[in-house]
Amino acid sequence: MKSSNIYERFSQTFRQHPSLSRFLVVFAVSGGGLVAYSEGNILSSSPKIDELPEAGNKKKRVVVLGTGWAGTSFLKNLKNSSYDVQVVSPRNYFAFTPLLPSVTVGTVEARSVVEPIRNIVKKKNVNVNFLEAECYKIDAKNKKVYCRSTQDEKEEFIVDYDYLVVAMGARVNTFNTPGVEENCLYLKEVEDALKIRRSVIDCFEKASLPNVSEDERKRMLQFVVVGGGPTGVEFAAELHDFVSEDLVRLYPAVKDFVKISLLEATDHILNMFDKRITAFAEEKFHRDGIDLRTGSMVVKVTDKEISTKEIKTGKISTIPYGMAVWSTGIATRPVVMDFMKQIGQANRRVLATDEWLRVEGTNSIYALGDCATINQRKVMEDISSIFKKADKDNSGTLTVKEFQEALDDICDRYPQVQLYLKNKKMSNLVDLLKESKGDVAKESIALNVEEFKSALSQVDSQMKNLPATAQVAAQQGSYLADCFNRMDECEKHPEGPLRFRESGRHRFRPFRYKHLGQFAPLGGEQTAAQLPGDWVSIGHSTQWLWYSVYASKQVSWRTRSLVVSDWMRRFIFGRDSSQI
Ligand code: FAD
Ligand code: MG
Repeated sequence: MKSSNIYERFSQTFRQHPSLSRFLVVFAVSGGGLVAYSEGNILSSSPKIDELPEAGNKKKRVVVLGTGWAGTSFLKNLKNSSYDVQVVSPRNYFAFTPLLPSVTVGTVEARSVVEPIRNIVKKKNVNVNFLEAECYKIDAKNKKVYCRSTQDEKEEFIVDYDYLVVAMGARVNTFNTPGVEENCLYLKEVEDALKIRRSVIDCFEKASLPNVSEDERKRMLQFVVVGGGPTGVEFAAELHDFVSEDLVRLYPAVKDFVKISLLEATDHILNMFDKRITAFAEEKFHRDGIDLRTGSMVVKVTDKEISTKEIKTGKISTIPYGMAVWSTGIATRPVVMDFMKQIGQANRRVLATDEWLRVEGTNSIYALGDCATINQRKVMEDISSIFKKADKDNSGTLTVKEFQEALDDICDRYPQVQLYLKNKKMSNLVDLLKESKGDVAKESIALNVEEFKSALSQVDSQMKNLPATAQVAAQQGSYLADCFNRMDECEKHPEGPLRFRESGRHRFRPFRYKHLGQFAPLGGEQTAAQLPGDWVSIGHSTQWLWYSVYASKQVSWRTRSLVVSDWMRRFIFGRDSSQI
């Protein structure tokens, strides 16, 4: 009895003070030699569909839709207690998606990569309430969201908001390819990863039954991955490791029938990475016996066959398969499409926000992560206003001094200017003006509006959309939370750049993405990494970097310890192939 009390007290202490667990984890992990470093922690003139909330002492109601990377990062970083927060999501947990490919083969267990959202938000001084439901309609005009319980479809309710944060992510894009929805598995959610895990073992068990013909056996053990992006490539690599390290020992009779094919419509896999990484990955896959078919587009899927078209020749061929995983990118969710129609964005493919993450055409709705894209304002759209604001003495010409005074605001408001200068290897905008004026002394440069236009005419060519990644979503979440935390303060003392088309300053600095690098795990304990400055690193040592970064990026010390112990378990005992 007494020992159970001590045990209970010990356990309670850890639960009430989660930070204590980090010491235990560091202590336990340090023996394995793993380095787990700590977590690093506009008003346009067009009329808006909704109004800004009235100022007053009443708590503002913030509704957050989604508990993925963007929503969770917002919730974690929101510290201002003057908000009442309502979270609506069909998932009552946060999932660490970069480890989902590992979950498909049991390198890491599903429960190790998820954290209940109530755990994440419970210790905050902010009042946060969670509702497990999906939003099926946003009524921007009346500031309401319509929700439906995921447990009981009849259970519907309406939530009012003052501010809405849309962080609903995206859905899988099938490009309307016939048969994909019915026959392919996806790799987007934790449930998808678990389905894949069961399906792989299913294929092996079925193929091992005595009366199965050789052709059938071959078909059952033909695994097809569609899409050569980071997710498809990582999954193919994980599957290859699982088969070669664990399953061949357990299923010796059928091991020679196994084949993994990776289909990609363009000429290369991992297109968004440096060419060196692409080449290394392709060569490694060839060596590993993964059947890599580039330039091959899937046109139809039936329950047993995949039809592909060779892009160059138009030749159609079929692949009999046992399991197919579809991973070719993302598309907008229907509820977001419907919302886009309401706010005059029907002709766009993705929900557009301004540089402060506010949905264009609205006042009090923000959107972040995979469901939105930032519509960066072009310099050329505002060029006359920029000229006017910078020409302080209204002389009709811009001198270097005038220009330099406006420089910080211009670069803040239009980040493409800075990018352009960087790519042109220029140190500042004056160099750009000099370039357009020829070889004249710096002090005597004075540009009229036409000359100014031509000097900046190319800067907008540098604009690029941000990728749909966890890194972008998480940074946007913490940026927006920071804005919400300082909303009143910045209303009184705006800290953003000059409003070039109107008077005054913007309340906040615009969102600025900081790219920290990207990994592509390639199997066999080898990973490729592309770090800022196009620094490329490939091999076993990069795999250790991957382990350290992914351990450190876990959302809690609980998941961190689970993930690390899963990795250790796998090293010692291999992956578990039980069909449960
Ligand atoms: P999500 O994380 O998808 O979250 C969306 C949330 O909205 C979910 O909680 C969902 O339940 C909820 N939701 C859905 N519909 C509704 C509704 N109607 N109402 C309310 N809520 C709703 N990125 C990287 O940077 N690095 C990686 O290594 C990496 N690996 C990946 C591996 C896999 C297998 C996958 C699938 C993605 C990976 N990504 C990676 C991409 C990354 O996961 C996404 O970019 C990121 O999840 C986007 O965050 P989000 O918050 O916008 O959307
Ligand atoms: Mg002047």
